[in-house]
Amino acid sequence: MRKNIVAGNWKMNNDLAQTQELIADLKKQMSGEPAATIMVAPTYTNLYPAFEALKDTPVIVAAQNMHQEDNGAFTGEISAAMLKSVGVETVILGHSERRAQFNETNELLAKKVDVALENDMTVIFCFGEELEDRKADKHFDLVERQLKESLYHLPKESWKSIILAYEPVWAIGTGETASPEQAQEMHAFIRKSVADKFGSDVADGVSILYGGSCKPGNAKEIFANEDVDGGLIGGASLKAEDFLAIVNSF
Ligand code: PEP
Repeated sequence: MRKNIVAGNWKMNNDLAQTQELIADLKKQMSGEPAATIMVAPTYTNLYPAFEALKDTPVIVAAQNMHQEDNGAFTGEISAAMLKSVGVETVILGHSERRAQFNETNELLAKKVDVALENDMTVIFCFGEELEDRKADKHFDLVERQLKESLYHLPKESWKSIILAYEPVWAIGTGETASPEQAQEMHAFIRKSVADKFGSDVADGVSILYGGSCKPGNAKEIFANEDVDGGLIGGASLKAEDFLAIVNSF
């Protein structure tokens, strides 16, 4: 069933010692049952130490990306099986930085999603419009195309392993957040689109996270919306106190 989830995307930040320090801070400051499922996504080199340090906690360790092939001559890449071999069973796919800087297309992401699911992984699938799409009133079409071209070929049962993360690109790392009304409007649109294609059981069961300059000061009003089931957090996830304040905004 639909869960509240707060996931921290640590991006290319923190070496091993800094990662261990952030995890130690998180463990020290976490008390009792968390208000939402917590996930953190360190860099590849820190995945295994993070997994080891967090395995006695409810925090789930996720990867920020993976390659679509099983193995072979793909210098610098990491496969699903490699992630699983170090305990990582969740992967972020389609982050706007990967789409923009590493030319990841909807078609490529469809392949990555398939491979992650074949390997029994959970996918946090990111998508969202650029500012010019919104200004041209094309944001709903654009978002639906991203979903259709990367996810709508899946069989219905695969949706239990999909988490959606709507991240308007103009709000990522900019300090500019979508208003709670803009977030709710888009999340309701996304849930309806999923319902039209896969049925209301799938749509009601999928968690839809918001991402884009979410912080302790605005998380509560964003998460209060009916169709917002949590957040994918960049900058504010690098400080344990801020990240846990966002988790506790439910
Ligand atoms: C992100 O990169 O997924 C993100 C939401 O970043 P920030 O919170 O820093 O805007």
